[in-house]
Amino acid sequence: MRVAVFSARAYDRDFLEKANAAADGKHELLFFDIRLGTESARLAAECEAVCAFVNDQLGRDVLELLAGHGVRLVALRCAGFNNVDLQAARDLDITVARVPAYSPDAVAEHTVAMILALARNIHKAYVRVREGNFALEGLLGFNLRGRTVGIVGTGAIGLCVGRIMRGFGCEVIAADPMPNDELVALGGRYVSMPDLLAASDIVSLHCPLTPQTHHLIDRDAIAQMKPRAMLINTSRGGVVDTPALIAGLKSGRIGNLGLDVYEEEADLFFENLSDRMIQDDVFARLLTFPNVLVTGHQGFFTREAMSAIAETTLHNISAFAETGAALHPVSVERLA
Ligand code: NAD
Repeated sequence: MRVAVFSARAYDRDFLEKANAAADGKHELLFFDIRLGTESARLAAECEAVCAFVNDQLGRDVLELLAGHGVRLVALRCAGFNNVDLQAARDLDITVARVPAYSPDAVAEHTVAMILALARNIHKAYVRVREGNFALEGLLGFNLRGRTVGIVGTGAIGLCVGRIMRGFGCEVIAADPMPNDELVALGGRYVSMPDLLAASDIVSLHCPLTPQTHHLIDRDAIAQMKPRAMLINTSRGGVVDTPALIAGLKSGRIGNLGLDVYEEEADLFFENLSDRMIQDDVFARLLTFPNVLVTGHQGFFTREAMSAIAETTLHNISAFAETGAALHPVSVERLA
């Protein structure tokens, strides 16, 4: 198949070309570093498939343009699919495929890296030591053993975080409309969302972004959290209301904040903007807090995860080419 790969950085190209070579170079991959949107959709002309990432736009308008160019498959190289209008894809007879669980460990380990960095002020110490400042004032941390970690969403990644935190001697509580027996087997226990917020020293978000989880963490939720609790979001930016986080940081209700995702990240992340001014004042305000650690959506970014993403993406494309169905489809029907 001829596939237009959008938002393609050099590392995407490397991993996808390797996976394609392993599949005997079956597919013709055209790489475009720009994001997919109404302006760029024309680059998919004469392609039967597009390969898209988290910030590519796949609303009805873009899907209609793609369908007009003959695109029949959208192969997402990510797990989340909140950026795709699945009903429009259904109406236009476009198959949507994703990479469901390429490496939950990658995102879970990044989550735990953020927890440890914030608990022990590693992000501050790193800068201080390089400037010859070895004073400890302001670096006082806290032990993880005995702390309560609240996991929101205990699918592949949330479960993995639960397992690691149990290893640190933490109590693990969780909220999920679809409880997972494996979490209970680890010694975790399910509670209501208000109880999770009230009891957790660390709240970690691992649910998908859906209409139900949009701004799940808002002013009300923050008011229910333990004073000075830590909040970590490695799921999707829209699960939290960022101005509410800023208010929570200013009041001290949020003691530490770790974000790998941001609601308006599409205009910032995956680009080197070091010689430009950040135009987003909300994001710029977040960066001023010493107890906030932001990474630019890199939870998935390990060699292992990138190989698995590329392989599964190629398998989705090959399966569709051979049988007319992708290996890991997402659709309105499946979601229901
Ligand atoms: P998953 O589908 O295995 O698990 C998601 C869990 O969330 C499910 O158990 C589901 O029942 C639960 N859930 C749904 N609605 C909920 C709600 N209202 N409250 C609590 N739980 C709810 O997904 P996963 O592979 O564990 O990934 C989780 C999310 O992490 C993805 O949807 C994606 O947005 C994000 N993610 C981020 C990165 C990154 O690089 N930062 C990488 C991969 C995935």
